[in-house]
Amino acid sequence: MTKSDDARAPTLGSVSEQRPAPQPPARPSAGIPAGRIFGVPLVVSPLWIVLVVIGTLAAPDVIRKYVSVGTGASYLVTLVLILLLYAAVLAHEASHVVVARAFGLRVRRVVLQLLGASTELLDEAQTPGREFLVAAVGPLTSVFLAGVAAAIGAHLADHSVGWLIASWMATTNGLVAAFNLLPGMPLDGGRLLRALLWHVTGDRMRGLLVAGWVGRVIAGLTALAAIVDPRFGTGDGSWAAFYLLVVAGFIWLNASLSIAQARVGAVIPGLSLSQLVRPALTVEAQLPLAEAVRRARAIGARALVVVDGRDRWAGIVSEAAVQAMPVDRQPWVSVSDLARPVEAGLVLSPGLTGADLMTAVQETPATEYLVAGSDGALQGVLARTDLIAALRAAGVR
Ligand SMILES: [Zn+2]
Repeated sequence: MTKSDDARAPTLGSVSEQRPAPQPPARPSAGIPAGRIFGVPLVVSPLWIVLVVIGTLAAPDVIRKYVSVGTGASYLVTLVLILLLYAAVLAHEASHVVVARAFGLRVRRVVLQLLGASTELLDEAQTPGREFLVAAVGPLTSVFLAGVAAAIGAHLADHSVGWLIASWMATTNGLVAAFNLLPGMPLDGGRLLRALLWHVTGDRMRGLLVAGWVGRVIAGLTALAAIVDPRFGTGDGSWAAFYLLVVAGFIWLNASLSIAQARVGAVIPGLSLSQLVRPALTVEAQLPLAEAVRRARAIGARALVVVDGRDRWAGIVSEAAVQAMPVDRQPWVSVSDLARPVEAGLVLSPGLTGADLMTAVQETPATEYLVAGSDGALQGVLARTDLIAALRAAGVR
């Protein structure tokens, strides 16, 4: 699968993106670095290693129902089956990486977790066609591997170890492909649906919103299956039910993230920095805070910018710090004590809109930004709280 920001969760093979959001969620803990795939960091969850150990210890009895091998050999065969499956899942992810990078999209990392793996993209595909291809190559790779395994298995003696490995690879890769083609986020099928809707409607975010809702439906049906008939006619019901419920929860969480991203994404193009800028008062560094606040109120300014002796911007006073300062102390504090020094990323061009504005704010996180034209004229201050309020007013939660 390919996955989001995110972000944020795995199943057997999907692609995510980190999209602009007012306050990006913290990334989950990374896990153990395990080398690189085509230059992209591979990270393995410690839980995955636990699963390999448990699977290797638990499955040999099952293995001996299919092939006649000794106890020791059955453990080895089990370990080989598990590692080959995950190698196949990594091949699925590597195919997402290769196609994404061929289109110039940056890949943050590939994560191998309890439920499978995910490829985390840092950029969005430029066109619906590219979105479609980045998503489609994963299930295609799994189908190809299933076909190769089935072809090899057909030439091997029934109930030989080689036959068992080939049958296992054919079945599991087929299941990985089928599961990932379910048409809801965060699965590859959800991205295919999104790309189709994007192509048809011309609206990238509408496609994401629909694919997110379909993902929630898939999560609901998966949970229902776990409760109604977890065995699907075979196996140990309680473990299968538990696994299905975990998968359902995973899909629900990530589908919900897609829905939230779609809502933010639909609002962002309408954002304009010029409509959010607060009038600011420039003050000298040593001016007492109480006097600066009095002057600002007198002219209706809602932000304070500190200038040095040569009239250059030296700092932006934090509104939160002013509010936290008791009124009776304000005469004894100079404005520079509450100011953040102005660095490159804190000066925004007044013409910024939409995604460019969100990107600028995310690249340099701060509570306040200077807004100044190319001629150096100060137009005011952007308060992050105003930006978030604008998103909330447009229905983003
Ligand atoms: Zn995938």
